[in-house]
This record gives sequence, C-alpha cells and structure tokens, in this order.
Amino acid sequence: MIAQKGTSELIELLSRKSDIRGIPMSGTFELTPMCSMNCRMCYVRMSAEDVEKSGKRLRTVDEWLEIAEELKEKGLLLLLLTGGEPFTYPGFRELYTKLRQMGFVISINSNATLIDDETVAWLKENPPQRINITLYGASDETYMRLCQHPTGHTVVTHAIEALQDAGVNVKLNCSVTPDNVSDLEEIIRYSDERKLILQATSYMFPPLRKDATSIGKNNRFEPEDCAKVEARIRYLQRGREDLLRYCESVEQHCPLEDDATFDCEGDGVRCRAGKSSFWITWDGRMLMCAMMDTPGYDLSEMSPTEAWEKLRRDAKAIRLPKECAACDAKDTCRTCAAMIYTETGTYDKKPQYRCDLMRATPAACRSILKEENENE
Ligand code: SF4
Ligand code: SF4
Repeated sequence: MIAQKGTSELIELLSRKSDIRGIPMSGTFELTPMCSMNCRMCYVRMSAEDVEKSGKRLRTVDEWLEIAEELKEKGLLLLLLTGGEPFTYPGFRELYTKLRQMGFVISINSNATLIDDETVAWLKENPPQRINITLYGASDETYMRLCQHPTGHTVVTHAIEALQDAGVNVKLNCSVTPDNVSDLEEIIRYSDERKLILQATSYMFPPLRKDATSIGKNNRFEPEDCAKVEARIRYLQRGREDLLRYCESVEQHCPLEDDATFDCEGDGVRCRAGKSSFWITWDGRMLMCAMMDTPGYDLSEMSPTEAWEKLRRDAKAIRLPKECAACDAKDTCRTCAAMIYTETGTYDKKPQYRCDLMRATPAACRSILKEENENE
C-alpha cells in the first residue's frame, strides 16, 4: 500500500507518525546569519562585524555533522539548509556533500544571488531534493529598494534559468511588502511563464529574533492592506471563482468580537514545531521554529537529544489564546504559535493584527472582485 503512495503522501504519513511519537523527523540548520543581500524586513541578517561584536561564532562543519549524526539516530530525515544566505557559509559544499552521503533528504533556501554557472554545474551533479528561491521583485530597481542589491533580479533570473536547464527542482517564494507590491502581477507572470510553483505572502512576522523591541511591528502593510494583497494574490493565482468561494467562506466564519466572552481552554500548538520538527540557529540554539527564540536550548550546554526532549516538553505545555480556540474564524485564520508570539510577545494573548486582517478580508476580496468586474 505504501509503495503506491506518492512521495509527498508518504512524507505526510511519516510526519504524522513522528508528531505522535515525538521523532525529530524534520529539521533546519540555519548555517549563517550573513547574507549577500540586506532586506528591510529580514529577521536574521547580520554582517560579519555584527557577528564578531555579538561574541558568538558560526558552527564549524564538524559541529554541524556531529549534531546531524546524533539526530539521525533519533529519526531526522528531512533537512533544510538555510541562512542568511547558506551559500555564504564557509564549507557549505563540504557540509552539504557529507550530509547527503549520510542519507538526508536535503532542501536549500537561497536568494540565488551566489548561484553562478559553476555552482549550477555542481548542484546538477549533487541535486538537492529542492531549492527554494525567494524572489523579491521583478526588476533590479526593486531589488535595490528592498534588498540593497543593484543587480539582484538579473543575477537571480540567470540562476533560476540555469538551474531549470540543469534539471534542479526549483520552487519560488515571495515576500510581498510595500516595497515590491507594485511588481506582484509581474512576479506571478514570471513564475507562470517558467512553470514554477510560487508561494507568495504579504504577512510578515515581526522580526523578534533580530530586534526584541519589534513585538507586533515590521516593515509591512497595515492589516487592511495586507488583506487586499492576499486577496489579489489569490485572484491572480487561483482565479475569480476561487476568490469568491474563499470570500463567502470567510464571511460565514467571523472573527470573535473584541469584547466577546468565552469559557474554554486554549488550543495546543497546531503545527509540527516541537512535535516532529525543530530549527537550529547559526549560533547553535535549538528552537521550535525560526520565528520563536523561546523556548530554545544551547547545544554547547547539552546534547541535541536532551535539547529536543526539553523542546518537546515545552511545546506540549504551550497554550494558545482562549480567544482563538473559541473563534469561529480559526480554521481560515490559521494563526500559528509563532505569529502569536511575535505579534504579542507571549503565547496566550490574542494577536490583534491577525484579527484585524481576518475582519478586513471579506471587504478586500469583494473590492478585488468588483475591480476585476469593472476591468472586464
Ligand atoms: S535574502 Fe533572506 S536572509 Fe538575506 S537579507 Fe534578505 S530576507 Fe534576510
Ligand atoms: S487571531 Fe484569528 S483565530 Fe485568533 S481570535 Fe483573531 S481571528 Fe480568531
């Protein structure tokens, strides 16, 4: 029966089992906070000088391999290598090659600015399961404005096309902010023309790991504008009928009124963080996910296995806001623990930005549908 299932179904099945049994099946190694770009909304980027001033250091290739060896014994299978920009990590190729030889299914997150023809040839010989490339705009001007990279779009387009020609599996991500929203249609056309999956979002987590005072803040849209951009993304990618259905479904499941009374327990963590997945930061802390800096355990003070057990225990104890548990909109809102934590600085307080976003969604969908009707 298992042999008939597609790879993604099999992974889903394994992940569910891992959730129940607390197996760390899926992990991310954030190799470095350093990056070839400097995006305004970034939660992690540091310069070499910032790293030096912090008194911390990157983990060595051997340290990462030691962590990987131990977690492989515990069931680690899916490994994401990210940064910053992972291709800036010294020893990236050595580490990647050895991790691949150990049998991990590896994906890479990259901005693609350092993927030249020689790197593409190397990746062709040693293909990852997938390379996820974040696209920040549809022109060099936008890359300059948002990422402070003067030729970003040209360089990234060359890399994407070369990777596709080499048969490497590419997926695109896009963070839509006030600085690149004018390129949205062009970005979607770009992915369609190249037959690439594009995951675009206008919701930006507050970058708490970079700036502890940024609770509930980022270089991002107001909730009403975020709702409009999300609706436009849906319209452009899935069409009118889908947006209409979504709009009607959101209208039927209204967010809880701000002054509503309720009597229930908060839900537990809804995603896989701390159940079957973890994130290890460049300076060696194991977290539930990238956005939450607490709970977190320093791997220079304990083994990866001990850190994982503590993280599991902490994740189980987390209770999300009672308001969200009682809210009729929770399945469409899909607010996660990381959103709640970065929006409020705690796990049990209702994230007002998300509520305002949900409230604004039906009107945003209707206004896109009306605009498109008028344009026809
Ligand atoms: S490319 Fe990614 S890691 Fe680099 S600065 Fe931009 S958001 Fe941060
Ligand atoms: S954050 Fe979402 S689920 Fe929670 S109360 Fe607000 S609308 Fe409802």
